[in-house]
Amino acid sequence: MAESEDIFLRAKHRTFSGLTEEREWTGPFYFIQAADPQLGLMKAWRDGDCDGGGDEWAEEVQLTKQAVEAVSRLRPRPRFMVLCGDLVHAMPDTPFRVDQERDLKEALRGTDPSIPLVFVSGNHDLGNTPTPTTVEQYCSAWGDDYFSFWVGGVLCLVLNSQLFYDASACPQLKEAQDAWLEEQLSKASSASSTEPKPKHILVFQHIPLYLKSPEEEDDYFNLQTAVRHNLLDRFKRAGVKAVFSGHYHRNAGGCHGGLDMVVSSAIGCQLGEDTHGVRVVVVTANDVIHRYHSLEDLSARGMDEDLRKLLQA
Ligand SMILES: [Zn+2]
Repeated sequence: MAESEDIFLRAKHRTFSGLTEEREWTGPFYFIQAADPQLGLMKAWRDGDCDGGGDEWAEEVQLTKQAVEAVSRLRPRPRFMVLCGDLVHAMPDTPFRVDQERDLKEALRGTDPSIPLVFVSGNHDLGNTPTPTTVEQYCSAWGDDYFSFWVGGVLCLVLNSQLFYDASACPQLKEAQDAWLEEQLSKASSASSTEPKPKHILVFQHIPLYLKSPEEEDDYFNLQTAVRHNLLDRFKRAGVKAVFSGHYHRNAGGCHGGLDMVVSSAIGCQLGEDTHGVRVVVVTANDVIHRYHSLEDLSARGMDEDLRKLLQA
């Protein structure tokens, strides 16, 4: 990859330049999945003012730096690190937004250059009801809001879940993502001489399809029932192995009908009993095995030994 390339703008033209298009399976590898650094939420949450932008974010900057340092020290190195949305807390066009984005980028710059950063858009990054303008702002700061890439024979799809959640102010963008997604899924599930079949298909988005069960009630933290089942059906038909998400600020999820819905807690503010952390995801020929690691454990001991052994298979 070009050294002069902006590490925050690698997702362009619906693809990702941080990794070469590796369509062939070459053996087990791993990556890091993280979510919700959400600079500004910790103090806002303590103050009971979550609708405000959060006027302090030194804690989240520190936690992000800790995550980046721990991840950069891992050996072998992860193939990439994906941040599943809510990069910052301040909504588009509100006070502190620009400063939070600047400070997050500064913290992330410490990532080892051989570990590409993949960004996923969250509701705070785009607004709960995104508009063409807020989507455009996000794309010019962090790269495309949806795109695909190949790593080690695995097809990864990064989606803009806000277009599933509320596209009332940008219906054309929703339609465009839907059409693109359909094309990606149908190409992936119908191998041909020009389109090799991926070893696995993985999806990354901010809002979980569900937190525990596909049949659960709608709430703030999951996607609405109709859109959830629509996506579940399409993902299962195409053979998607796992969907990785954040947004909940707690670990959750569950495997139903062969599809693993993974909900990871936050680098930043915790809303449950988990600790600040990231998820280590090992991809083997047959499985995708993952475990949340606290930042403390990852800093002190690296990834769990049993996971590391899977890489030698
Ligand atoms: Zn969120």
